Amino acid sequence: MIAADVRTETSRLLAELIRIDTTNPPGNETAAAEHLAAYLAAAGVESQIVGREPGRGCLVARIPGTGDGPSLMLLGHTDTVGADPEEWSVAPHSGLERDGFVWGRGALDMKGQVAAETVAVAMLAREGWRGAGDLILCAVADEEVGNGWGLSWLVEAHPDLVRADYVVNEGGGERLEHRGRVAYTVGIGEKRCSAFAITVRGKSGHASTPSAADNALVKLAPVIDRMQRMRPPVAELPALHTFLAAVGEDGADPAEVVARCRAENPILAAAVEPMLGATIAPTISQASTAVNIIPGRARLVCDCRILPGMTTAEIEQAVRAELAGIEHEFELVENVGGTLSPPDTPLYRVLEEFAPEIEPGASLAPFVNAGFTDSHFMREAFGSVAYGFMPMRMDPLLAGSLVHSADERASMDDLELATRFFLHVARAMGEPA
Ligand SMILES: [Zn+2]
Repeated sequence: MIAADVRTETSRLLAELIRIDTTNPPGNETAAAEHLAAYLAAAGVESQIVGREPGRGCLVARIPGTGDGPSLMLLGHTDTVGADPEEWSVAPHSGLERDGFVWGRGALDMKGQVAAETVAVAMLAREGWRGAGDLILCAVADEEVGNGWGLSWLVEAHPDLVRADYVVNEGGGERLEHRGRVAYTVGIGEKRCSAFAITVRGKSGHASTPSAADNALVKLAPVIDRMQRMRPPVAELPALHTFLAAVGEDGADPAEVVARCRAENPILAAAVEPMLGATIAPTISQASTAVNIIPGRARLVCDCRILPGMTTAEIEQAVRAELAGIEHEFELVENVGGTLSPPDTPLYRVLEEFAPEIEPGASLAPFVNAGFTDSHFMREAFGSVAYGFMPMRMDPLLAGSLVHSADERASMDDLELATRFFLHVARAMGEPA
């Protein structure tokens, strides 16, 4: 099949997926899963649709391996965030092709990648290809809200259906240009969300006679200030050195790179900053419920993200030290994610092999995502090696401004490149050992 067909076929499938409104909530991902299943069936690929509720279907398709080689999953989600048509210059669920782009909600996050993965699997099936291990395509519901209808449910309810040694998912493939070098990001991990709350106590009373009470809200003020000023614990992330070398900053102080690049290369600064260590940001304060009651208790909730390998005990110790002299209680209110696949695996080498095809001279820059993706469910449930990667030559500043925003669109050149990339990964990982 010639390249022009890859481009047309992927763009068309993406447009069809965009026309199926899977705004979450309510999701209605089953309609998208059925569309993919019919498309795959025409290529001779069998799939199953499973869901916790009828409308929330996840698609799992498979080209069984000929032997016991490692299994590879191409992962994606079919739900999207909502779209306000008034902000858009085209109808958000039109799937319009214009100026070399396919327009519509989900084009970048992430129906474009789902389309490229699906077309790659269909093309391989049509030519009768089979790998040494299973090739699995998994298009799940409910990533954007994450209320338990998607991959978190699937790994618990149907582990045998979705177990995989290697996974390629969203969360990487951005183009970074810096100091005359070009690198493409690979999401190798996610930070752990370890939000905590600090409570301080006083004595409640009527606000009309304030001197009789001990106002806990006032005691919270220095806590907010110290949490904002605090330097959270740092950690050595080995992949950070690989990242810096890829962008020509070998040996530089990473914190200095972040400070220097914030204006000059904000995409680079934003990728490096989460890899320095923990971050802490005070976000919610709670005190009195009525204007005329002086609160006897006030609470500050802080967002906190730690690198894989760091512990919450380390954070608690640092926070308590920062709050020395202020009587307080510390409570962890969230503790999820924080997984990593090291960048020295057979799958990573396969990604590296493809880099020159994306752009001559390009290298790969492994990074840890500050937020998180479905990859952590696969790492936690099965110990899978999971990376976020779909190469995109599109300007990352433009792409970043379109995700979850108006006029979201995917470049047809990138869609073609992505399908070629997924073909490469499946073939290379499916080779007998
Ligand atoms: Zn997404």
